[in-house]
Amino acid sequence: MPNIEKNITSVERRLQQAAREADRNPDDILLLAVSKTQTSAQVRLAIDAGLGSFGENYLEEAIRKIEQLKGRSINWHFIGSLQSNKTKQAAENFSWVHTVDRLKIAKRLSDQRPTQLGPLNICLQINIDDEPSKSGFSPQEALEAAVSIATMPNLRLRGLMAIPKPSASKAEQRQPFAQLRALQDQINGMLDNSQKLDTLSMGMSGDLEPAIHEGATIVRVGTDIFGPRH
Ligand SMILES: *Cc1c(COP(=O)(O)O)cnc(C)c1O
Repeated sequence: MPNIEKNITSVERRLQQAAREADRNPDDILLLAVSKTQTSAQVRLAIDAGLGSFGENYLEEAIRKIEQLKGRSINWHFIGSLQSNKTKQAAENFSWVHTVDRLKIAKRLSDQRPTQLGPLNICLQINIDDEPSKSGFSPQEALEAAVSIATMPNLRLRGLMAIPKPSASKAEQRQPFAQLRALQDQINGMLDNSQKLDTLSMGMSGDLEPAIHEGATIVRVGTDIFGPRH
């Protein structure tokens, strides 16, 4: 049984250290605990250790946990691949969706978001290494999609998310993160002041430091908090 509390302390230290080295305020970086395949009891331990934001990939599993943990104050983030027949569940149960990869998904989330919950925070998933096997907008597609998604009534377009392919070297790890940040700057140049993106969801257990160096505002960490997945 991994010691979740100790793991969190160690990940938080890494986050703070990387922020210091990058001359950034660690408070500007959210540690999102990725709890897919982990139990509600483990999520509870992470809450008791001070975390409040959790990421889930599979809707049925997530909704079960959301139900079990009702009453605790948690921000749930959906970070899995989202099929169009599941958008309603995502729109009703989460405060963030990081993995919007098509205009159609954005439109459905906006249509299906219950207005009393306020706008759903979303990120566009970017296929930053142009991998045929991965979903996500190409950078060019994202430029066009962002302008139209930014006006959808029940969404708040917050930023970009990517899962780069594994890099051969430490030096190469930073490159896709830098590209994502450059794309964010480019998109911001096209948006109105009230619509500017403020979120870069990038970096996981193995590469949170290079992501923070390149401007990550949300790092998504599973294994280094909860141990190996079931
Ligand atoms: C599972 C997952 C993570 C967490 O990965 P770890 O390497 O376990 O930290 C982060 N982001 C996404 C999109 C994931 O699916």
